[in-house]
Amino acid sequence: MKSRKKQFDVIVVGGGPSGLHTASLLADSGLSVLLLEEDIAIGHGVVCSGVISKEAFFRYDLPVESIVGKLKEAELFSPGGISISYTHPDESVVVVDRHIFDKKMGESAQKKGVEIQLGTKVSSLTVREDFVEATVRTQGEEKKVTAEIAVIATGVRFNLQLALGLGRPKKILKGIQIEIRDRKPERLRVYFGSRFSLGFFGWAIPLLDGRTRVGVMTEGNPLEGLKGTLSQVIQDAESYLANCTIKRRGIAFGVIQRTYSDRIIAVGEAAGHIKTTTGGGIYYGLISAEMASDTIKKAFQKGSFKAGVLSEYETKWKKTLGKEITLGEYFHSFYSRLGDKEIDELFHAAEKDGLLSFISQKGRFDWHREVIIKILKSPNLRKVLWKGLVKG
Ligand SMILES: Cc1cc2nc3c(=O)[nH]c(=O)nc-3n(C[C@H](O)[C@H](O)[C@H](O)COP(=O)(O)OP(=O)(O)OC[C@H]3O[C@@H](n4cnc5c(N)ncnc54)[C@H](O)[C@@H]3O)c2cc1C
Repeated sequence: MKSRKKQFDVIVVGGGPSGLHTASLLADSGLSVLLLEEDIAIGHGVVCSGVISKEAFFRYDLPVESIVGKLKEAELFSPGGISISYTHPDESVVVVDRHIFDKKMGESAQKKGVEIQLGTKVSSLTVREDFVEATVRTQGEEKKVTAEIAVIATGVRFNLQLALGLGRPKKILKGIQIEIRDRKPERLRVYFGSRFSLGFFGWAIPLLDGRTRVGVMTEGNPLEGLKGTLSQVIQDAESYLANCTIKRRGIAFGVIQRTYSDRIIAVGEAAGHIKTTTGGGIYYGLISAEMASDTIKKAFQKGSFKAGVLSEYETKWKKTLGKEITLGEYFHSFYSRLGDKEIDELFHAAEKDGLLSFISQKGRFDWHREVIIKILKSPNLRKVLWKGLVKG
């Protein structure tokens, strides 16, 4: 399958879970794969809460050594303090340390034959008739690397996609997080309302060793949201924040216009494959990596890397992830218009319409379509959401 003219069969740009998984699967099938990561180590600069379903762990061979938390109970708080508790019969969700998670995935990729070059930033990808050329900067020097095909797995960075005409997501949300120590492990807490987040929520995630991850995903001011959320967990949040490490990162919202072109495929968050309800991107990234690698393997068998051959990838991910992502966007377009009073009403309506028992029976951590449809069809919930739309 290997071509003699190019240096590698595949270049993967970005060493997060999506890039590493794509690279591993391709190397496993005998292709020569070069993965380029601009950071100094795999998992080094990650900002993430690390919440992943057990479904993802069952489906993929993920590093269990990275598990630092197990979640069974959750409590959701409305702006006015109405709380809804939820206990899953099983621990369906775990929390990982992303540094360990990514590092172990990197080690496993290397064992499968992936060559990883760290401290190497790809500044452009140029598609030629017979190959794709990456211009990279490493240790202050610029050089070119060639392959049959390149995979863009750059997370929330969209320069390469924009330059190639693939576009970017509708919005980039703001994510922010800190870790606090010495807390008694409690249940997962999620906070809704303008004090915490505009359009989304704040969270406090207990870990097994007494640490708690406190963070916010928002369209508003992330630091203000973090202050609001932290003040629900400890006293004197403001002075705590003045002396701790605050990590920030964008979160893609919505898919990019096109996820492939001649000799190019975008995967994971770089393609906008991320839940538009919660901002969770690890599992969807792994799924899209699997689909991309299947299409790439077929392209090698056919000996063609034209867009027409690679389009199968987009058809595949749209079938599995497409409706989830667009329905989440649709729900958000209603929810984001609600004021605090209406979010309180939404909590009351959720109880009246039996949403919680529906979630207990049918809810799945990674797949929200059925719950969104239930919300949109429930009389009281629908009434509150429509209020927001009329107001907006
Ligand atoms: C605060 C916060 C909390 C989150 N919590 C969760 C959660 O609990 N569960 C969940 O599933 N998701 C969560 N996410 C989202 C999740 O972190 C991402 O969706 C996930 O990391 C995407 O994986 P990826 O491999 O696609 O991209 P990334 O993990 O971002 O990896 C991309 C890699 O590409 C590298 N790169 C970028 N550009 C270049 C370039 N030009 N050249 C070379 N290398 C490059 C980057 O350095 C990076 O290492 C959270 C995000 C935030 C901000």
